[in-house]
Amino acid sequence: MNIYLKVSNATVFCNGHLALEIAIKALGLTGEVITTPFTFASTTHALINCGLTPVFCDIDIDTCTMSISKIENLITKNTSALLPVHVFGYPCNVYAIEKIAKKHGLSVIYDAAHVFGVEVDGKGIGTFGDVSMFSMHATKVFHSIEGGILTYENEVFKKEFNLLRNFGITGPEMVAITGTNAKMNEFQAAMGLVNLHYVDEEISKRQKIAYMYRKCLKTIHGIKFLEDMPNIRHNYAYFPIIIQENDYGLTRDSLYEKLQSYNVFTRKYFYPLTVDFDCYKSKFQCNIPNSRYIADRVLTLPMYGELELDSVEKICQIIQDIYLNIVS
Ligand SMILES: *Cc1c(COP(=O)(O)O)cnc(C)c1O
Repeated sequence: MNIYLKVSNATVFCNGHLALEIAIKALGLTGEVITTPFTFASTTHALINCGLTPVFCDIDIDTCTMSISKIENLITKNTSALLPVHVFGYPCNVYAIEKIAKKHGLSVIYDAAHVFGVEVDGKGIGTFGDVSMFSMHATKVFHSIEGGILTYENEVFKKEFNLLRNFGITGPEMVAITGTNAKMNEFQAAMGLVNLHYVDEEISKRQKIAYMYRKCLKTIHGIKFLEDMPNIRHNYAYFPIIIQENDYGLTRDSLYEKLQSYNVFTRKYFYPLTVDFDCYKSKFQCNIPNSRYIADRVLTLPMYGELELDSVEKICQIIQDIYLNIVS
């Protein structure tokens, strides 16, 4: 695992979410943590479950990751860390985040659930920040049925992570800290080891699919998508499109339903924003116009290694036909 991810240390867990909570605990975070609402429930829940106050930073429209220029305004004397999310296989601006964290003495934990195998300038994405959490849930690019990994360059965390995932037990008659049960089991580990042989093949198949989507979609008005970034190895975890209803003629929700009638099943991912969940509604003050813009317009198209390139062309043709029916 260390070798594939190009990291110095990796500890495995039963799932990504508990790994994230354990990272938060081990770093001893307090008060406020700056994060984003354009993520899976897990990121926000982890902070709340650990008794912390999430402070929501907006995302950039072009990358869907934390907006660097908006972070510093949110830092207060109570801020202890940043918890940015690498989204869809696209990394955050890790260098800028490192700079801000250093300047203000903040810890950095990345939610790296989407970026297994991603590299920045040839370095494993998990080498950035203090700790990164990868998920190996069955829905991810690489999976161990369920599973999580924490990666970290500083070896001091290893002991604490091992203790926290196993009830804090230090000996047959000794329990040192309040831990939990977050151990990865052997069956999960076996599945992960088998799948590790196929992950590069899976990523290269997905790359071809992503390129085909881009080729077929680029001529359709009002459909935007993310491009590859320079010096990044992407993993093509998802293929999100942004539907600009003024140009396309239909809203995201209408396209979502129309595609279903053609048996094309897409996901509104991430929608709703975590701050709009029933459990968090109106609990947090936040200024997040870009997050709202993307959450209302994003759709992730089918993406898996076995998806035929012909099917990709068909899906794009359907999106084109729907557009033509509207404009004609
Ligand atoms: C999948 C996911 C998680 C949670 O991982 P699990 O392994 O399912 O617990 C956290 N954050 C993001 C962004 C995810 O996509």
